[in-house]
Amino acid sequence: MNCVMKKTHPLKALVASAPLLLALSVSTLAMAQNSAPVAVPITQTVPDARDVAYPGTMTLDIDASDVVRGAYRVTQTIPVAAGAKELILLYPQWLPGNHGPRGTLSELVGVQFYVDGKPVEWKRDRVEVFAFHVMLPAGAKEVVARFIHTSPITSAEGRITMTPEMLNLQWEKMSLYPAGHYVRQIKVKPTVTLPQGWTAATALDGMTTAGNRATWAVTDYETLVDSPIFAGKNFRKWDLGQNVTLNVVADKAEHLEAKPEHIDAHKALVTEAKLAFGANHIDHYEFLLALSDKIGGIGLEHHRSSENQLEPEAFTEWGKQEWDRNLLPHEYAHSWSGKFRRPSRLWTPDYRQPMQGDLLWTYEGQDQFWGAVLAARSGMQGKDIVLGMLAAWAGGFTQQPGRDWRSVEDTGFDPVFASRKPKPFASLARNEDLYDPGLVKIALNGSFC
Ligand SMILES: [Zn+2]
Repeated sequence: MNCVMKKTHPLKALVASAPLLLALSVSTLAMAQNSAPVAVPITQTVPDARDVAYPGTMTLDIDASDVVRGAYRVTQTIPVAAGAKELILLYPQWLPGNHGPRGTLSELVGVQFYVDGKPVEWKRDRVEVFAFHVMLPAGAKEVVARFIHTSPITSAEGRITMTPEMLNLQWEKMSLYPAGHYVRQIKVKPTVTLPQGWTAATALDGMTTAGNRATWAVTDYETLVDSPIFAGKNFRKWDLGQNVTLNVVADKAEHLEAKPEHIDAHKALVTEAKLAFGANHIDHYEFLLALSDKIGGIGLEHHRSSENQLEPEAFTEWGKQEWDRNLLPHEYAHSWSGKFRRPSRLWTPDYRQPMQGDLLWTYEGQDQFWGAVLAARSGMQGKDIVLGMLAAWAGGFTQQPGRDWRSVEDTGFDPVFASRKPKPFASLARNEDLYDPGLVKIALNGSFC
């Protein structure tokens, strides 16, 4: 082929090619339109919870004896309905008391599912990543799930729940539940293997032991998640009266040497709470208290128990720890304020439905109020230190520029998007300003914002 091009006047060439250019530009436009991204429809594949019973009883068997590696090894059996082709299992995401989607999914590893001893295929839901779709072969009657919950071993990884001396087992971190049911409608029988010689405390009922394995009576999944375990090799408990028990684990045995007057203050707390609320709405209650500077800090309320961490010297240097003794009154009052009675939009039927935090200031603010009142009345804290706390909080709020743009109610959404981490310009940003300002708002009959 002759490569020498025939010379043409540039203007003539342009005129000659005009229709071609026009055709090109039209087709280019069409191509651009054709290649513009189009949204992929989101299809909901996980059913909403309904208030109907899940058939059968799950078993949940947790080996919590490997406190050196900080690993909870789980075997869970989930019955399935006859003829089902798929089982959708959820990992708890929206956690009561955390007030947000704080489920520790990234600490769930080694997940495998079996039917009749053979591995079966599973897929994570592409949209709801806390959901596992497990494919069922014909005739499947139950699924066995095996996985590990890896407790952080440094605080940079998250809250440490295992040390060589104690553990804090939270069921929602190491169990799955079938989608589509209110969690109170799902039955489960829990078993835990502890290190040899350790003692466990929990609000769960019907404990039996065989060696270092403890089993509890069948309960529902909602009660299970609301009934964590504290266990340790250094353990002591005290009867506070009215079916309330103070269960304490400690880094060192000598830290368990509480004096009678220390226990008397805790007994007075129980008495004052009953006088304040008019009745006990629970059959028994377990304070779970860790005296430790190794395990992660916690103050978490439950209906019949609470998880608490104080300094190792909370008893042995009682006089120096008064500032920190508001924790147990706060968490105990929560059994009434927040658990027995709760703002409706904060109650959810499972751990998938989002919580709505606009009334979190009543949940936490009212509880902060009663925690302060009960601490002073019982002697857990002196009247002066409680009044001093109130004065410090109120004084701080007078200098808080964030009040100009955010209400206390709006800070109830903070746990959903701020993950309780420190913020720059905190006084302008506001934080979870629903504890102390909530208290002030309660005390001032709603007029504080
Ligand atoms: Zn609280």
